[in-house]
Formats: sequence, structure tokens, C-alpha cells
Amino acid sequence: MRLTFFGGTDTVTGSMHLVEVNGRRILRDAGLYQGRRAEARRINSELPFDPAGVERLVLSHAHIDHCGNIPTLARQGFRGEISATTATAALCDIMLHDAARIQEQDAAYLNQKTNRAGLPPIEPLYVTADAERALSLFRGYPYGAAAELGPGARATFIEAGHILGAALTVFDLEEGGRRHRLGFAFDLGRRNSPLIRDPEYMRDVDTLVLESTYGDRAHEEITRAGEQLGEIARRVLGRGGKLFIPSFALERAQEVIYHFARLRADGRLPDAPIYVDSPMASAIARVFEKNRHYLDDESRELRERIGCLMRPPGVRYTASVEESKAITASSAPCIVIAASGMCEYGRILHHLKHGIENGRNAIALVGYQAAHTLGRRLAEGARRVRIFGDEFERRAEVVKLDAFSAHADRNDLIAYVERVRPRRTCLVHGEAEPRAALAEALRERQLGDVILPEHGETLELT
Ligand SMILES: [Zn+2]
Repeated sequence: MRLTFFGGTDTVTGSMHLVEVNGRRILRDAGLYQGRRAEARRINSELPFDPAGVERLVLSHAHIDHCGNIPTLARQGFRGEISATTATAALCDIMLHDAARIQEQDAAYLNQKTNRAGLPPIEPLYVTADAERALSLFRGYPYGAAAELGPGARATFIEAGHILGAALTVFDLEEGGRRHRLGFAFDLGRRNSPLIRDPEYMRDVDTLVLESTYGDRAHEEITRAGEQLGEIARRVLGRGGKLFIPSFALERAQEVIYHFARLRADGRLPDAPIYVDSPMASAIARVFEKNRHYLDDESRELRERIGCLMRPPGVRYTASVEESKAITASSAPCIVIAASGMCEYGRILHHLKHGIENGRNAIALVGYQAAHTLGRRLAEGARRVRIFGDEFERRAEVVKLDAFSAHADRNDLIAYVERVRPRRTCLVHGEAEPRAALAEALRERQLGDVILPEHGETLELT
């Protein structure tokens, strides 16, 4: 019985782990590695094993850094079952179609250049047909259910508290009369989110593989998120401005909608339209409504009060580009939620282009802003920014709402290990500093062995 760390060890992208038991190979996640183009292409396409020789894939959740390379597996011969929660399977239908479209568009764009240079065309990493083949392999399970993975292997899904349908998984392995319980705790969410239930604790785990994204930081209380959003919305609408909220289409957009629904139901939000300018967020909202039995009691109570959680009064989803343009053309106060979350592409850029020079407007940053993105420049207070090649003077107010995060912070991570008490903990899914800081904290508290596996390292599960 062994575990090999093939991705997302000292980075937060491209998560992939291989479990071997009784000669069978089982993958846990197949995330897309995101980084510099050539390097990403190599890592995503040159897999360190033959996908046709992998029997099963057990998937944690629908974020692209965990599921986005599944179509590559299908393209290269993987035909096993992909076990996930039913909500994750439904979300992957949207996420993988979108990911394939991006790969196709990316290759088409590059091929305009290669054509001109007389070079051979670039193949997309994968295409829609690969995503569809992968989607046909999915099988959905509810929380608490176990997927039988063949002789001596079974995986049980429990609540991760991270995004809709996200699961921590406990692998029960048995080989040659020896047993080993292996727990994967990533991505691990936070307690007290009103939309997603609290993470569940595993029991009797021998080896725990734990994320360390925020191993060196504490978040603001999650319960402050709604208040923070209400304060900025009242201020901006009160002065006749527009409030722009760059947001990922999955999860963060639904969280923001939830908070506005509650604020409005409680009479704490002025009457102005809230536009969700993202066709993808609209499709995801339908999955949320359909899978509302996955949601926290707090949000289900609100739904009973107002009728519909993801389409509450005042919230409008825009589908066409024309509708989106009509919002940018209007000067009426409103709230706009649009992708991308780091202002790199997508409809948010059109809204910012038209609204960033107006001092009555504001931009609320509700997500992580990576280096070298427009979102990061805004977060750092830049006064002049480039959008679509033109320079703009930023007069709009920028606020960072730190209470929003779907990841456990340092205190949550330590508390999780204290409660689960594994024999050893392997820290993954974190950059060097937070990973080392968390390792130190766990060692100080004498919470079993702590291992920082390297990419490609194999651990015997004894
Ligand atoms: Zn995630």
C-alpha cells in the first residue's frame, strides 16, 4: 500500500495523488496545473503514469485545480469510474465543458500566430469530446456513502465545508492482512459558513493528507462577510454609484448572492438591481437550487422565507452580451457581480473600463488576488491601471472584504489535526512558507509525525 504525491504538494494548483493497493491504481483528484504556459502544458499533458492503467478516480470537488485535468486522462485512455458526490458531478458538467472551451479557444488563438509563422498547429490540451467522455465516467454518491474501489479499497465521502458538494475522503485500505486508513483533507473549508455546512471530522486515521494554503494566516471571522458587504453596498448605492464585485462563477458568486438576499430580506439593502453578469454563474445557480439538500440549515431557512435562494427579489441574471452592455451604458445605481474573480478576463473588465474612473463607484474584492493580475494591482491601491490595452485613472473606491474565504485558516487546520489525531500528517496544497509554518505549529504541539512530501515522492502506508 502506498501513496505517491504527483501534484499540488508545494503549490496550490494541479492537485493529484496516486494510491496503490493490491496492484491497483487509484487516483485522488486530477487538477489542472496553472502557471506559465509552456510549463503548464508539459505538466498537464506528460503524466507520470499511463492513465489507461489507472482503475479509478476519486474526486474531491469541482474546482479546476482539482478536476480540470480529468479530460486529459480520458484523452489518454483512462476509462475507470470517477467517483464523486452527486453535487460535484453536476458542477463538473459545467466546469469541464467550460474548461474544454477555454483549451480550444486558447489553441485557436495561438494557431493564428503559428499559421503566420508557417509552424505546425498546436493541439489543444483537450477538447469538448474529451470532457464529454470524462463526464460519462462519473458516478455520484451522497455524503456518508462509500465507493467500492476493488479488492481492499473503499473511499467514504464526508462534508468538506468548502464548496457545494466538496468532500473529504477516507480511504480504507487492506493488503496482505494489514489495514491502513488514509484521510484526504483538502480542500478543507471553514466552520460557520451560512451557505455550506461545517466540515466533518474523520476518525481513526493513520495518515492524514492535509492542505496548508493558509498555514500561516488567520482569516477575519466568516460571520462578518454579510455585514461587510452590506456596509459597502449601502455606502455606494447611497451616493448614486455602482458597486462592482469581481467574482469566481463557482461558489463565491453564490455566497455573495446569498448575503444580498439576506440583507434585502432583513431590510438592510436599498432598492437597486443586483446583476449577476455571468452565464456560468447562472448555470451554477441552477445546480445550487437543485442540490439545496447539500446546503446549510441557515440558507435553507432563508430560502423558505423568500422563495428562491439564488434568484431572490432584485437579483437578475444577464445572458446576452447586449444585456451586459445595457448595464454598462446605464448610469443608474446598481450592484454588478461578474467574472473573472481576479479581473483578468470576462465581463467584469467591460464594467471596470466604463466605471473605474467614476469616484461614486466602488470595487469590492471578495476573493484571492494572485500576483500579476489586475485584481492584485487594485488590491495594492494602484491609481493607474490598464484595461484592454488602454490606461485608466482609478477613481472608484476599492475595498477588500477579508471575511470571504472557502479555505480553513491556520487555527482551523491546527484544530482539525488536534481533533482527528492521525499517526502522521502529510502537508500538501500550500506554498513553501505557509506549509513550513503549519508544520512547525503541529510539531510544537506534538500532534504526531509531520511530513512535507516532495513532488513525485512515494510514501509506504504502514
Ligand atoms: Zn477548492
